[in-house]
Amino acid sequence: MLSTMQDVPLTVTRILVHGTLVHGTSQITTWTGDAQQPQRRSFAETGARAVQLANALRDEIGIDGDQRVATLMWNNAEHVEAYFAVPSMGAVLHTLNLRLPAEQLVWIVNHAADRAIIVNGSLLPLLAPLLPDLPTVEHVVVSGPGDRSLLDGCAPRVHEYEDLIAGRPTTYDWPEIDERQAAALCYTSGTTGEPKGVVYSHRSIYLHSMQVNTAQSMGLTDTDTSLVVVPQFHVNAWGLPHATFMSGINMLMPDRFLQPAPLAEMIEQEKPSHAAAVPTIWQGLLAEVTAHPRDLSSMKRVTIGGAACPPALMEAYDKLGVRLCHAWGMTETSPLGTNSNPPAGLSAEEEWPYRVSQGRFPVGVEARLAGPGGEIVPWDGESAGELEVRGPWIAGAYFGGANGEDFRPSDKFSDDGWLKTGDVGIISRDGYLTLTDRAKDVIKSGGEWISSVDLENAIMAHPAVAEAAVVAVPDRKWGERPLATVVLKEGQSVGCDELKDFLARSVAKWQLPERWAIVPSVPKTSVGKFDKKVIRKQYADGQLDTTTL
Ligand code: ADP
Repeated sequence: MLSTMQDVPLTVTRILVHGTLVHGTSQITTWTGDAQQPQRRSFAETGARAVQLANALRDEIGIDGDQRVATLMWNNAEHVEAYFAVPSMGAVLHTLNLRLPAEQLVWIVNHAADRAIIVNGSLLPLLAPLLPDLPTVEHVVVSGPGDRSLLDGCAPRVHEYEDLIAGRPTTYDWPEIDERQAAALCYTSGTTGEPKGVVYSHRSIYLHSMQVNTAQSMGLTDTDTSLVVVPQFHVNAWGLPHATFMSGINMLMPDRFLQPAPLAEMIEQEKPSHAAAVPTIWQGLLAEVTAHPRDLSSMKRVTIGGAACPPALMEAYDKLGVRLCHAWGMTETSPLGTNSNPPAGLSAEEEWPYRVSQGRFPVGVEARLAGPGGEIVPWDGESAGELEVRGPWIAGAYFGGANGEDFRPSDKFSDDGWLKTGDVGIISRDGYLTLTDRAKDVIKSGGEWISSVDLENAIMAHPAVAEAAVVAVPDRKWGERPLATVVLKEGQSVGCDELKDFLARSVAKWQLPERWAIVPSVPKTSVGKFDKKVIRKQYADGQLDTTTL
């Protein structure tokens, strides 16, 4: 028997129409670098401008069907306009990671066969030299300040964003889209290999955003303002632009002002109640406000993910009245796959192991752990395995490119269709996930596994340490051993022997690294995670000044 309910497709268009109509007075504030004059735009204005953009893309640029429209943009109101205009008209939004090396950007744009690119003027020095290698790109639309002359003589037609949308109709006869159609395309940042394209459907975006708005996840309302630091090119800014239009949550967008000082300034002035970003952003902000105190107390809750959050960082922010809440996810999971909220009724001390865990799975994300032989191991808080997930916002394949077939590599998908995350961990009886490492970063020492993340967290608890990254290096006797690279806080000096003694207080002796290096900074990936590939290479090439203890 079929249900008697209406079958209304879950589409991005419906999120746009809802946000514009029902939450028209909510605001997007975009930082301009001038604290007196941030750009303020209501959801009603943003929605109307998104409609104008859709009209321009169809009538002036000729976007048709599921053609790809790329963005090379910071987090700002115009980027939100593109987020809604492109999928709502039936086309596919392709967010480009502006921190990727040039050759990867070229590869990705060609693989996706992007027809147009909307670019912030400040990013023209990055885009302009690539255009000769991007034959599918016929149109470039430029928004915001920047030197347009860089595009002189380029092959694609150049449009000025504001001129392009000015005077266009503020209505659009939106197509009725099948909810399983492609809405957005995002490539993995390639931390552990070649970038791979994940194609989100209207339905997956809709369901994921509803989940972001549950109290178990970010749980925000129109009384909140969210500081969206996580880039819009990094897995749809973790779903925030869509979630905010569903619930009227105000957005504070940092644009290109992502350095700790302007972030501190905009928090003090605009008083966001929530923020989302990877741990390295919060490390930088902490150093900034320690040197130049600012009032961050409006920010009650911060969603932190993308990499394991060091417990010492959570403690430091607790003291500032800011609660860091751990979330786990990946490009393939839209991204939110867990959120860490301790069970009710616990003391602060009892809450701690739950807070530092990656958290619980929301309804919609099924999880299992595959042990070393591929067997499924129990949720008993002890049996470790590779995390596998499935659900309506989890990828089932990768994009094969404009002329290729979608593909399912066996190291990424199980025979029965679950996503193999490459993350290793345990799940407690009450359903909390604790990741111990990425499968590729685990240190395999003499038949035992050492968690690089555990060592990093323990070293980062030392008061003189700003950052620590631990990688596996080849060892004749043990196969692999840990190498610790450590960045000291400004003005601090401490020897590697003291760091090793400190570490010995919290980890087993056989896990202690013999090799140590004090380094000026830890290399980071395009989305701000520790780049362990680079550290391993630096060591192999003899570029690290290593002390052996
Ligand atoms: P890439 O794989 O290119 O780095 P993603 O942003 O998709 O790009 O990264 C997903 C990975 O980031 C996860 O598989 C996991 O290893 C790591 N990660 C994300 N969130 C967390 C977290 N809260 N704790 C530990 N690791 C995390």
